[in-house]
Amino acid sequence: MLIVMKLEAPREDVERVKNKIRSLSYVPHEIPGAQRLAIGITGNKNRPDAEQFLNLPGVIEAIPISKPFKLVSRDVKPNDTIVRVNGEAIGGRELALIAGPCSVESRQQIIDLAFTLKEMGIKFLRGGAYKPRTSPYSFQGHKEEALQYLKEVKEATGLRIVTEVKDTETLPMVAECADVLQVGARNMQNYSLLEALGSLRKPVLLKRGLSATIEELLMAAEYILHGGNYEVILCERGIRTFETATRNTLDLNAIPIVKKLSHLPLIVDPSHGIGVWDGVAAMSLAAIAAGADGLIIEVHEEPAMALSDGYQSLKPSKMKRLLEKLYQLAPIVDRSLTRSPQTSEALR
Ligand code: PEP
Ligand code: MN
Repeated sequence: MLIVMKLEAPREDVERVKNKIRSLSYVPHEIPGAQRLAIGITGNKNRPDAEQFLNLPGVIEAIPISKPFKLVSRDVKPNDTIVRVNGEAIGGRELALIAGPCSVESRQQIIDLAFTLKEMGIKFLRGGAYKPRTSPYSFQGHKEEALQYLKEVKEATGLRIVTEVKDTETLPMVAECADVLQVGARNMQNYSLLEALGSLRKPVLLKRGLSATIEELLMAAEYILHGGNYEVILCERGIRTFETATRNTLDLNAIPIVKKLSHLPLIVDPSHGIGVWDGVAAMSLAAIAAGADGLIIEVHEEPAMALSDGYQSLKPSKMKRLLEKLYQLAPIVDRSLTRSPQTSEALR
């Protein structure tokens, strides 16, 4: 249920409604908006009785929400959510670009690549320290050591760090380093992890599960918002279909559907989506044309030598070429992609 209040309702009226919700053992969620002030109710098994809210001062309406997902839904919050990470927005008009290797392989590798990407104007660096792999014999990541390198890189470059958290045990350590905590496809329905992330106040990048429906993705995000963490970025990264020519099938259809259903930002991972490097640029452009708020792309200096996902990684020169196309595409689809001063400098 959504309680809609007068925009100018005094603080004490808002607190009275929230306390009423708590007294019923439900959870109140204040949802700011330009047009209205709303309070979402979660944690209720049955529909709450609207009457008990309608007679409280400042309350205009009590709207039942029929969708299974509530807080992630546009019914509850019509305007787009913008997640801000140290001054950089994910969601909104400006496209967000996250780039970097699949895994942090060595100190030198991540430092060199981070500077190369920063010079291109990239603001977010990806790199896995903990790698939940399909095979127990595949490279599992350099773990704590890799987190240490990422911290150094963050310090040296100012890039925002996006790295995967694979379980609740390592969450405190990963959260200390990450600016955005990535939940991998294999963990999208790890409910204890989602609950733990709900209690943090740090942005989460939630990847769609290998065989998850759009509704299941939104329900997974709902876990995090229900816990009180509203900074969730969704990620379409391809799903499993009967097709074997590509690693996954990038579900471009999901973009307009998710954007219609949810106010959360949605980015696309074309690297895992198609699984081969020479398809990544095409799928990146397609994703932005379809309405994605940004991209997460695997980049490696020497893809043939990569410890994971080299075959789908772009060399920096190819990433730069893709960026040039994205600069051209952005205004055509009513988006912006600002060239950083370093980029324009480098092109002169
Ligand atoms: C990754 O980003 O390197 C990764 C493992 O992605 P996913 O969880 O989508 O497979
Ligand atoms: Mn990868």
